[in-house]
Amino acid sequence: MSKMKAAALKEVGVIEVETRDIPSFSEEEALVKPMVAGICGTDIERMWRTGTWKFPTVLGHEFCGQVEKVGSKVQNVKPGDRVIINPMVTCGVCRYCRSGHQNMCVSYDYLGSRSDGGFAEYVNVPAKNLMVLPSDMSYELAATIDPLVIGIHTLTKADIQPNNTVCIMGAGPIGNFMIQLAKIYGAGKVIAVDLSPEKLETAKISGADVVIDGTKEDVYEAVEKATGSLMADVVIESAGAPQAVENAIHVAGKQARVVFMGTPHRDVTIHDKVFESILRKELTVRGSWCYDYKELPMNEWQTGIDYLYSGKVKIDHLVSHRFDLDHVKEAFDVVKTRENFFNKVLIYVNEPLEK
Ligand SMILES: [Zn+2]
Ligand SMILES: [Zn+2]
Repeated sequence: MSKMKAAALKEVGVIEVETRDIPSFSEEEALVKPMVAGICGTDIERMWRTGTWKFPTVLGHEFCGQVEKVGSKVQNVKPGDRVIINPMVTCGVCRYCRSGHQNMCVSYDYLGSRSDGGFAEYVNVPAKNLMVLPSDMSYELAATIDPLVIGIHTLTKADIQPNNTVCIMGAGPIGNFMIQLAKIYGAGKVIAVDLSPEKLETAKISGADVVIDGTKEDVYEAVEKATGSLMADVVIESAGAPQAVENAIHVAGKQARVVFMGTPHRDVTIHDKVFESILRKELTVRGSWCYDYKELPMNEWQTGIDYLYSGKVKIDHLVSHRFDLDHVKEAFDVVKTRENFFNKVLIYVNEPLEK
């Protein structure tokens, strides 16, 4: 069989499951069968607003799979291995790659936006971007490693100290992962802020001590009340909504760390008094982008695998929908607007979906 099914984005708003040739692969690549893949917030933007770098492109960068074949020079994986895919394919030679900061690479490819991703029965992937999973780790669990690793990378920027109060803006999948991670990293009180009551319920299951519904409460006053006016030691902004960005600075306490990882899709306005508080409170404001792939001080991907496999980080309460590859269009309809509740939406690509 030389043909496969692939869900290709043809233009903004148009995704079609089509029949294509199975891709060829180089001597340093593997041919991978994607098993389960997640829809990321960035996929929603690509599908409904921005498109991909070129059309058509197979979407999907959060995916795990099984190695089907390997090129002649591949040594780290073999056919039959269960693998997680790091979708960021970096050059390996620029100053950032050489200093261990691949996420700053000046010339990278990205599966699922710049080249074809995981919403297809097969995809070719550089073998260096594959890590072998435990043989009994479920593909559903493994499909969420990518967003978890983004959360891990973000928290490494937050420098959480024992008993710190951590406030997380946005209780989507990554926000929920970061609630769990903050507890692992020694946070005291964890406060979650969102506009969706359903997401705040998941935040409680993830371990949030205080949840704030921004549609019902003044976020600043609610954090003030929850912290005895000290405000948060660490704030993480994962929503990307303009109001959440401003709130992140506003609810930070003196000498707090504020880490931004949610991508805004509209202009952000910060009122002068709130901006001035960055100075007055001597805030440390940082950004966080994707993930590192280096070994030291820790391999964020291996840490992500370990946390999920050991059950330290849980996803069961975060998966809201599952679809098979033929129903990718329906999956994107679910996430088109915020009117429907959704959290992590998974595509069972090659893994059978039991109804
Ligand atoms: Zn993503
Ligand atoms: Zn590079």
